[in-house]
Amino acid sequence: MRLSPSSSANLARRSSHGGALPHAKYGVDLAKVPDTYIEPFTAYRAWNWSAEGITSLNGVLWTPRQAFEANCHYAADLCSMRAAAIGSVAAEFWESKSHQVPEPGCTCGMYAGINMQHMIDIGYIQRGIHGEVSIWGRLYRHALGWRAQYAYPKFFVVPANMVPFRFDEAQERLKALVEFDVDIYLQPEREVRVGQEKIPLWIKDYGYSQQGISFLIEKRQKWYSGEKVVHTLAVGDRVAVFGGANGGGIGVVREINGDEMYYTMFSLNVVFRKKVKDVEWNERNWRWETTGLGMMRKLALGGDRCRS
Ligand SMILES: [Zn+2]
Repeated sequence: MRLSPSSSANLARRSSHGGALPHAKYGVDLAKVPDTYIEPFTAYRAWNWSAEGITSLNGVLWTPRQAFEANCHYAADLCSMRAAAIGSVAAEFWESKSHQVPEPGCTCGMYAGINMQHMIDIGYIQRGIHGEVSIWGRLYRHALGWRAQYAYPKFFVVPANMVPFRFDEAQERLKALVEFDVDIYLQPEREVRVGQEKIPLWIKDYGYSQQGISFLIEKRQKWYSGEKVVHTLAVGDRVAVFGGANGGGIGVVREINGDEMYYTMFSLNVVFRKKVKDVEWNERNWRWETTGLGMMRKLALGGDRCRS
């Protein structure tokens, strides 16, 4: 790891704004982390995987064989404000608001967790496929790990219950991942944990592994009984939620009680409630989907009692 020659300010030595950062707990010495990486640095993240490909959890599409470059969602606004500004003072004001990505005072950047355990602890890993990611360029540390300028996946781990049951359909869906030309592993267990078994499914410069194919074709059949695959909503399942103030996202089912289900999305302390019948299985995307967030309740921090 080298410091960029142009880097004078070191973010790692800047004081933090948001209280205690989690990095040391996960083995990262921030004093040794420069603010700009020339060589990639390894972090961990989750992606949403649909028929269209993979996206960040906020919906931005990742392109195979191309570094993901984070853009600031305010950049376009600032640009037009600058163009429309009358007088040099106004123009300078908007000019001063433009920045490189990521910027400490903004929310922009490619978000990644510190490592796998950190992603599990903050409740993000269960939302999609997951894996190591190389990050480089400008790097900013924050409570959810990192915000980086550039990123590219190092490998993917795909929970087996996210892969379509029929192998031809599975291959069709996996194509989008194969195009990234990085190793793909299967996670046989439903729940994710550090150190669990990973089955090689598609390996760079080699292709599909016999072990992975036989798992998808033979072993997985034992999990299902009968001819028809019946999808039943279960705790731990992912649900794509459409609509809502910020366009929705991927939720994780936390509890099912009779005909109602409870899920979390943005924070583990905010639980949403919906009717089970309003959550539908989408065969094409091979996932649960629903429209509208449903009823919200906030949980008291550190407890499991309902506050409202
Ligand atoms: Zn920004």
